Amino acid sequence: MKLTTRKFDALIIGAGGAGLRAALQLSNADARVAVVSKVFPTRSHTVAAQGGVNAALANVLPDSWHWHMFDTIKGSDYLGDQDAIEYMCRAAPKVVYELEHFGVPFSRLDNGGIYQRAFGGQSQNFGKEQAARTCAAADRTGHAILHSLYQQNLRARTHFFDEYFAIDLIKDEAGYVLGVVAFEILSGEPIVIEAKTTLIATGGAGQIFRTNTNALSNTGDGMAMALRAGVPLEDMEFVQFHPTGIAGRGMLITEGVRGEGGFLINGEGERFMERYAPQAKDLASRDVVSRAIAIEIREGRGCGKNKDHVLLDMRHLGTDTIMKKLPGIREMSMTFLGVDPIEKPIAVFPTCHYSMGGIPTNRDGQVVVPVKDTPEDPVPGLYAAGEAACVSVHGANRLGGNSLLDILVFGRAAANHILDFLKENRYHRPLPQASVDQALERLSRWERKGDGEAVEPLRRELRKVMEDHCGVFRTAEVMQEGVDKLRVLRERIENAVIRDHTQTFNTARIEAMELENLMDCAMATMCSALGREESRGAHSRVDFPERDDERWLKHSLYSLLDDSMDYKPVRTQPVTVESFPPKKRVY
Ligand SMILES: Cc1cc2nc3c(=O)[nH]c(=O)nc-3n(C[C@H](O)[C@H](O)[C@H](O)COP(=O)(O)OP(=O)(O)OC[C@H]3O[C@@H](n4cnc5c(N)ncnc54)[C@H](O)[C@@H]3O)c2cc1C
Repeated sequence: MKLTTRKFDALIIGAGGAGLRAALQLSNADARVAVVSKVFPTRSHTVAAQGGVNAALANVLPDSWHWHMFDTIKGSDYLGDQDAIEYMCRAAPKVVYELEHFGVPFSRLDNGGIYQRAFGGQSQNFGKEQAARTCAAADRTGHAILHSLYQQNLRARTHFFDEYFAIDLIKDEAGYVLGVVAFEILSGEPIVIEAKTTLIATGGAGQIFRTNTNALSNTGDGMAMALRAGVPLEDMEFVQFHPTGIAGRGMLITEGVRGEGGFLINGEGERFMERYAPQAKDLASRDVVSRAIAIEIREGRGCGKNKDHVLLDMRHLGTDTIMKKLPGIREMSMTFLGVDPIEKPIAVFPTCHYSMGGIPTNRDGQVVVPVKDTPEDPVPGLYAAGEAACVSVHGANRLGGNSLLDILVFGRAAANHILDFLKENRYHRPLPQASVDQALERLSRWERKGDGEAVEPLRRELRKVMEDHCGVFRTAEVMQEGVDKLRVLRERIENAVIRDHTQTFNTARIEAMELENLMDCAMATMCSALGREESRGAHSRVDFPERDDERWLKHSLYSLLDDSMDYKPVRTQPVTVESFPPKKRVY
């Protein structure tokens, strides 16, 4: 069989905000760019982002990038790399104004400036008064951003491979990454896309948990591809549980509701967040609010007949504010709960939302691996950005509004570094056939027949194991059981088969390969969580309830080889300002 091969300067896997921001930068600089996406670009999960993007514009309240930097470091529970955080917060106003010029229809203040709302963990004056830093287009900010970026890319003539599934990276003996083997979902035809540089922008792995706010396509494919190419994953134990998912269903109710003044109440009608975070109350950091809800329910103060959720009340905001600032939330609540939030509070519960961990990169988006004596060596030709990457700006807990910022800042930064790389690496390297064959083998493996188990029940089981053994509160015993269960599942997946070889065969093959990717990400998460014997940010160990800076102020690195763990230091030195040393984190 003759394989179709296409050649580009730069390949981008993923058409969410990170991929499209990078592609635009490259296309505008006249590089030949290809973007591969398994879903149509504007259906990437970025489209679902509601609340907004952070930048210290000071349009509503006084603000500075330095305060933003402090909040982000504190929010990360001091695990974030301070040089990268400084870079991101300084760049924020610029990338937001760029968006405005790309045509993003931000909500407006009376004076015409971009509307900014308050979000959790934001402060003025290094932890004092609440700030208002989140730039919003009503409660549909991601939609506005993704569509504008897509249109700009069409204008810049970026080449799109829509509805192509990337299987595995191509890597040569010298360690260069030279593109990807993908397949067209419609025809099932494999294709080799060769490129001098490859950027992974495949988003998060939220689908490893049963209840989550993510798109079905967020299966951690890029993270698993990196693992299989020998790159360890960083800080995978840090999974953000968003405090306000619709109870029992998982759809997200934006933090913007609390930013506009909504609050949480328990079964006794009490505003319980006042007890957990006396100053910030409902706008404490997400890990803090999620834990508070879990404790209220565990101690019997939940709402409803099963006392298994709490309520988010926004009735006092009034019809006008809800209709203007939160129209999408109202719609979602009416559709999925049959509840109009103008009249009744919404039932909510913490839900898996965001992967803080991912593929380790430096500030230029280069994928870095720990090598003896030098902590970080770039993998030539390989880049990562967005939720798939770990720069790390979010550390142990991400602040709301900082992820849209992350994808824009580091999508752009990676593209700028790629342009430099292209200047020095002008020719394509020879294609290593063995690596191509290995990727193709992953595809043909699923043509096997036999009496193995089917894919979907295995996926359900995997997600249930993660929910039961790696949730908001964790212990060694429960997680060890989880690792054992995952190991058994991994073997069962190796023997699984696609039962239905009829017209849905290509989508069935994708689901099967996604299951393999979910498996790798789940194992990375569970092993990293078991390894970290402290509580920090989103990682809460009942058996190690305190943060332990002496032993654990370091990043975890999980490798596929023997499920082994390694660690590397946190970069605590910013570039131009003083470091923020770890302090007790109170809100
Ligand atoms: C409901 C919701 C609301 C949110 N609200 C906010 C908010 O208000 N503010 C904020 O800052 N953050 C928010 N976030 C987080 C933020 O939106 C995401 O972290 C961010 O958009 C991720 O962007 P991305 O470009 O990294 O990936 P995504 O947007 O997830 O895109 C991933 C891309 O990779 C492609 N892809 C994946 N695997 C493959 C494969 N194997 N082959 C080919 N293509 C592949 C997909 O097709 C897709 O194009 C929210 C998240 C959710 C889920």
